[in-house]
Amino acid sequence: MRAAVLYAARDLRIEEVPDPVPGPGEVLVRPRFTGLCGSDLHFWEGGLRHVVKDPIILGHEFSAEVVEVGPGVGNPAIRPGALAAVEPMWTCGQCAPCRRGTYNLCRNLTWHGLSVKGGGMSGLTVVRADMVHILPESLTAEQGALVEPVSVAHHCVTKAQVEPGGSALVLGAGPIGIASYLDLRARGVERIFVSEPSADRRAAIAHLAGLTGGGADLILDPGAVDVVAAVRELTDGDGVDAAIDAAGVEPAFHAGLSATRPGGRMVTVAVYMKPVTFHPLAAFLGGVDIVASCAYCNDFPAVIDGFVNGSYPLDGWVRPIPMDGAAAGFTALEAGTELKLLVDVQGS
Ligand SMILES: [Zn+2]
Ligand SMILES: [Zn+2]
Repeated sequence: MRAAVLYAARDLRIEEVPDPVPGPGEVLVRPRFTGLCGSDLHFWEGGLRHVVKDPIILGHEFSAEVVEVGPGVGNPAIRPGALAAVEPMWTCGQCAPCRRGTYNLCRNLTWHGLSVKGGGMSGLTVVRADMVHILPESLTAEQGALVEPVSVAHHCVTKAQVEPGGSALVLGAGPIGIASYLDLRARGVERIFVSEPSADRRAAIAHLAGLTGGGADLILDPGAVDVVAAVRELTDGDGVDAAIDAAGVEPAFHAGLSATRPGGRMVTVAVYMKPVTFHPLAAFLGGVDIVASCAYCNDFPAVIDGFVNGSYPLDGWVRPIPMDGAAAGFTALEAGTELKLLVDVQGS
C-alpha cells in the first residue's frame, strides 16, 4: 500500500509499505480523507522530533472505511464497508487517568498518526475497535475526517461552561478557533467575539457567522484594534463569560485573560510552543479560572450528532488535496494561506 512517511523535517515521502494485519480486537480500515493539522506541522517542521525518532506515517484526523474485522470485535456495527471516524488515541486503560475515565490524559498515550503505530495517510491502517466510530449514512467522508479536530473544539467549549445566551471570546481563527466558534453558536451562546490577525481567516469566520445566524458577532483584527477594550465596551464594561485561546501566543493569552469577566473562565486549547509570562494577580483579582483543555474525551458521539444537525458547515475553510500534494499542503499551512486541508488518500 501507499503511505506518506515522514523521515525528518520537511522530508515526507509517498512510498510503498507493507499492508498491516488486524490482530485480536483490532480493525483494518481504508482511510478516505485525512486532515493536515498544526501538530503534523510541528513534526513536519522538526519541532517535535524528540517525541518520535523513527519514520512515521502521518495522519491522525481521518475518516476510513472498514475493510476487515479482527477476532474478538463484538460491535456488530463495525462491519466491512461501513464508514467511520477514527479516534486516534492508543490509550492503556490501566493508568490512573484511564481508570478515572480521563483517557485523554493517559500516561502511556500513543497517537495514531504521530507514532510508529501507523497513520491515516496510508492505503490501509489498523486501529483498535474502540477507536472506530461508525458514521450515520447521511455524513460524508470529508465530514468524518473533521470529527477529530471538531472534537478538540467541542471539549474546550464544554470546559468553557458558557450558558446559552452568554458571551465568549475566541482568540485565533485557525481550524480549532473556527470549530470552537461553530460549537459555541450551536450551543446558543448569544454574543461571540473573535480575534484574528489574518484578513483571510477573518473573512472565513465572517462567512460562517452569516451561515449560522451569527451575523451580529464581532470579528476583530488585534493588529488594528484594542481587543480587550472593544470586548469590554460591548459587554457593558464587564467582559465575556469565557475566553478560548486557540492561538497559543502570549498576546492572545493576555487578551483572553483581560477580556474575561470577573468569575469567568479562560480556556487554553492551543499547543503553546513558547512559555507565557503572566502575573497570577491578573487572574486572582477577577477570580478568573484558567483551565487547560487537552484533546477530547468522549466527545466524538456528540460531534457526530452535531454534523448530522448541520452545526459544523465546512464552507470556505476546508479544502481537499491529493496525496501527492501533502508536502505542498504543509508549505501552504506554514505560510498561513490555507485553513484545513484534507488529503484525499485514495485519490491520485
Ligand atoms: Zn490534529
Ligand atoms: Zn492510560
